[in-house]
Amino acid sequence: MCIFCKIANHEIPSYTLYEDDDVLAFLDISQVTKGHTLVVPKTHYANLLECDPKDLAKVMDVVQKVGNNLMAHSGCSGLNVLSNVNELAGQSVFHFHVHLIPRYDQNDALQLAFQPSEPQDLAALAAQFALK
Ligand code: 5GP
Ligand code: ZN
Repeated sequence: MCIFCKIANHEIPSYTLYEDDDVLAFLDISQVTKGHTLVVPKTHYANLLECDPKDLAKVMDVVQKVGNNLMAHSGCSGLNVLSNVNELAGQSVFHFHVHLIPRYDQNDALQLAFQPSEPQDLAALAAQFALK
């Protein structure tokens, strides 16, 4: 059984922020920023892309609830919501989870940079990746 299945089954303790029959939200053991939280379905799926859509909707409902609570009570000014899919993207626990990372300062531990692209490049990419 994977480590997040064990946490969801209460076989390993965690600092729980929210729990219902299908979803658990608990503090990440290594806090990127204060309040860094993981939201997981109790059913095991390897990653977001493999998650049953009904469970995905339940997870996102809890992401929204916990996110609003962090915004209200942590003193943060923003929040990053992310889910890593596969090792190359930084996934290290292969049980679907969503990270909620409160942001207090632009220079804090998490850095994400998005660069603008040229319109002709976007047109080619859209032609390549649009759902057929
Ligand atoms: P990933 O790298 O897969 O997106 O994120 C996995 C996260 O799980 C990491 O941020 C890591 O700190 C956290 N983590 C790993 N093991 C445990 C654990 O036993 N308990 C808790 N609370 N978090 C864990
Ligand atoms: Zn699992």
